[in-house]
Amino acid sequence: MDVQRTPGRESAHRIVIAGGGSGGLKLATRLGHRFRRDPSVQVTLVDASLTHVWKPLLHEVAAGTLDVHDDECDYLAHAHRHHFTFVWGRMDGLDRAGRRLHLAPLQEADGSEALPARSIGYDTLVIAVGSVSNDFGVPGVAAHCFSLDSADEAETFRRHLFEACLRAGQRGGEPAPGELDVAIVGGGATGVELAAELDKARHELADYGACGIDAVRDTRLVVIERAPRLLPGLPDDLVDATRDQLERLGIDVRTAEEVAEVTADGIRTRNGEFIPARFKVWAAGVQAPGFLDGLDGLETNARHQLVVHPSLQATRDARIFALGDCAACPRDARGETWVPPRAQAADQQAAFLARALPRYLRGATLPRYVYRDRGSLVNVNDSAFGTLMGALLGSVTIEGWFARVSYRWLYRAHQRALHGTLRACMLFITDFVSRRTRPRLKLH
Ligand SMILES: Cc1cc2nc3c(=O)[nH]c(=O)nc-3n(C[C@H](O)[C@H](O)[C@H](O)COP(=O)(O)OP(=O)(O)OC[C@H]3O[C@@H](n4cnc5c(N)ncnc54)[C@H](O)[C@@H]3O)c2cc1C
Repeated sequence: MDVQRTPGRESAHRIVIAGGGSGGLKLATRLGHRFRRDPSVQVTLVDASLTHVWKPLLHEVAAGTLDVHDDECDYLAHAHRHHFTFVWGRMDGLDRAGRRLHLAPLQEADGSEALPARSIGYDTLVIAVGSVSNDFGVPGVAAHCFSLDSADEAETFRRHLFEACLRAGQRGGEPAPGELDVAIVGGGATGVELAAELDKARHELADYGACGIDAVRDTRLVVIERAPRLLPGLPDDLVDATRDQLERLGIDVRTAEEVAEVTADGIRTRNGEFIPARFKVWAAGVQAPGFLDGLDGLETNARHQLVVHPSLQATRDARIFALGDCAACPRDARGETWVPPRAQAADQQAAFLARALPRYLRGATLPRYVYRDRGSLVNVNDSAFGTLMGALLGSVTIEGWFARVSYRWLYRAHQRALHGTLRACMLFITDFVSRRTRPRLKLH
């Protein structure tokens, strides 16, 4: 089966974007508007999912403090509104000579085939398929750990955890050791924010009372980090403040502790200790999806990322671009440091390609993408802190109200990039109202 050109654009230049996440969806939206009245260019977005959820919100989805359905963006409706074509499918291969992108068969929940394997022709391809957790070869991770790689996985974790709490409550008596405990491996921003959000959720659950357990007393939260400190890249005083705050919430923070093995019942560390926990979340680092490795002869690195020039063009094919977490883009002229896998990098690269691709189609020389680190913000139980960086500011440390507003602003800026200022304001008002009228925890 083949996905063909849109009627009326039979001889158009086909720009295909694989992956509609932080970077890919913003790029498709911008290019859709850019070529709206130009029949010589057709923009198509391919994604394995039918809806987009901004990945930095997934720890809130996992804790149940955010209902995924409230904040998802429907690709089909978005494509219609922003003048591009959406194709539902999971990229699993590439034919560079024939300029075709292969899509795997799509399966129903029961395993039956919903759609057969297909392929899409392209003239220019942008690969923006993001990243997945890197288990670093630790035994038991794939079998026993949850991850926050997608909204579905975050939602699956939430459902299992809350159902376990409800079951324990209905059964009565003390929960078994580790039965309701959560061990989070990785003390970066994802692990720290997930732990704090789960603490918020267990207090909320305890307030509901109805589930029959004391969720605060009966659930134990542990964060395990291999490095000697949490939050690599943040200044020491902020790291100390974060640790203090987590410990004040009753979260067990273990640093300089390396995981040797994960089992169904818990985590064994290199120093021989066993930490019982039925629920394990792996948030210890990311790598690009494995199918990119050596994809039809393209250059990839040890983390399966596609190696690109500063123009974001693949080193071995000028028709193919990559952005975001799945791209290894040099940060300095000697190629010794690389752009980090962060939402702000994906966002900047999407804005860069939205300007550069029209020039590329006209045959002009491509500019170089330069990563601008805007700093890092971490939110622990509604008190955010971190660093902001900018040409005028240099690097400043922020805390309190301003940090909290800056943290929330990141998501609002993403919504504005997708929906425009007016709709983003309306979404803000809707969220404001619905957060005050709905239960603060998603239980079903
Ligand atoms: C819980 C959490 C919190 C985070 N917090 C922050 C933060 O505070 N600040 C920050 O800068 N970064 C943060 N990050 C990292 C940030 O989310 C990523 O760096 C960013 O989303 C990368 O954007 P991307 O466009 O490369 O990929 P993604 O946003 O991951 O999007 C990838 C898209 O590709 C699709 N896809 C995947 N495989 C295929 C395929 N084979 N075929 C078709 N489609 C495919 C997916 O469905 C998805 O829509 C966080 C990440 C997590 C998990």
